[in-house]
Amino acid sequence: MNTNNKNGPKLKLSTYRQLLERKAEEVRGSMSAQKAAQVVARLDVPSDEGDLSQQHHEEWIFLNRNTLDMKLLREISDALRRLENRTYGVCPECEAPISTKRLDAVPWARYCVTCQERISDRLAHGEEVDEYQEA
Ligand SMILES: [Zn+2]
Repeated sequence: MNTNNKNGPKLKLSTYRQLLERKAEEVRGSMSAQKAAQVVARLDVPSDEGDLSQQHHEEWIFLNRNTLDMKLLREISDALRRLENRTYGVCPECEAPISTKRLDAVPWARYCVTCQERISDRLAHGEEVDEYQEA
């Protein structure tokens, strides 16, 4: 084992692990709650055709929210893997340590604020970016 703590203060890795695991639990819990709510809603669907577009809209919202949850879960599990690999808290774009302030707010953050903004900017301009590319 080499000591990798020369770059700034040592991160409280166990704290971030706890934060990540708790968040993952929370997201999983809310996903199954949504699923249950949807099943109940289905039993309640009126056969009236006029409600069909409303139903579709709600389905779309449900799927969309679920997709966001899935994305978040994937980001959290990526972050947990980085904890295992000891690459947690280091931006893979510029190799700078991510500020603890940012990690406290977003424990699954992969990039530092500067790189994150640049990447979001690229995405906003329609450029393909593989967010999940491994270093
Ligand atoms: Zn960076």
